[in-house]
Amino acid sequence: MITGTTQLLGVIGHPIEHSLSPVMHNAAIAQLGINAVYLPLPVTPADLSTALAGFRAIGLRGFSVTIPHKQAIIPLLSEISELAQTIGAVNTVYPTAQGWGGTNTDVAGFIAPLTTLRSWENAIAVVLGNGGAARAVVAGCMQLGCQQIHVVGRNPAKLQPFLESWQSSPRSKTLSVHKRDNLPNLLPHADLLVNTTPIGMFPQLEASPLSPKDLEPLKSGAIAYDLIYTPRPTQFLRYAQAQGANPIDGLEMLVQQGAVALTLWLQQPAPIEIMRQALLDQLKTH
Ligand code: NAP
Repeated sequence: MITGTTQLLGVIGHPIEHSLSPVMHNAAIAQLGINAVYLPLPVTPADLSTALAGFRAIGLRGFSVTIPHKQAIIPLLSEISELAQTIGAVNTVYPTAQGWGGTNTDVAGFIAPLTTLRSWENAIAVVLGNGGAARAVVAGCMQLGCQQIHVVGRNPAKLQPFLESWQSSPRSKTLSVHKRDNLPNLLPHADLLVNTTPIGMFPQLEASPLSPKDLEPLKSGAIAYDLIYTPRPTQFLRYAQAQGANPIDGLEMLVQQGAVALTLWLQQPAPIEIMRQALLDQLKTH
């Protein structure tokens, strides 16, 4: 029930109608029995700064950030975590004495389903794509301690700047970038293959960043990880599984990044099971 003391949380984006975050976070809030609500907050790029001032005026307890504000919000924050600075994107904002602080929980979300599987210290990761999500994946692979991280992109002009942007990171030497035609040399050694491109996302159900033939060199037992969560599984994961790989889809990353954010805002553990189930129920209806 909304009362005079209900606390406000939310997600800003443009568009925001398709966000699954309200379903996930409100299920968690209900489970915790907290007097709070998590709202979709449509904010255009032109209104971002005004919206932040307004959120401060009404005492928002925190908010998530999605496309197109993840980078644009950075100069408007009073503090930013080292991780968000490295990635160059903020997805979680919390109040500070001076205004708003930003961090990035996608890295924690990405690595959560991987940490329990094996030790990653001698592992070789191959990452398809070099956009925003790839940055969280590279930071995650560095956190896991991967020995080599190979990023494969379609646009050579973007690959070198991508590599250079990691120069100050202590594990930058583990990172290399490659054009797509080098993939056959990389795949036989990959322990982890991650799709960070949107290829195969609903409604492109038949599309895959790699064909069954491309995937033939992949080791049996390698992990194939697709950041996409609609459909589940993607065509990429189907092909990789047929090749003997173990699949992970993007749902767990979505759940876990949300859980880390909620824990930060509420200062108490998030009910991860409830959040996962709320998302599964919501995705079933689509
Ligand atoms: P982005 O910044 O636009 O980056 C997409 C990357 O994919 C770019 O490197 C782009 O190449 C490449 N790409 C796009 N279309 C391609 C094509 N047809 N062929 C080859 N490469 C192509 O997007 P993003 O924010 O990183 O998001 C990527 C995906 O991750 C989305 O599906 C998103 O839903 C998913 N995601 C999931 C989670 C989760 O919690 N599970 C979190 C974040 C993102 P160019 O650089 O050449 O354009």
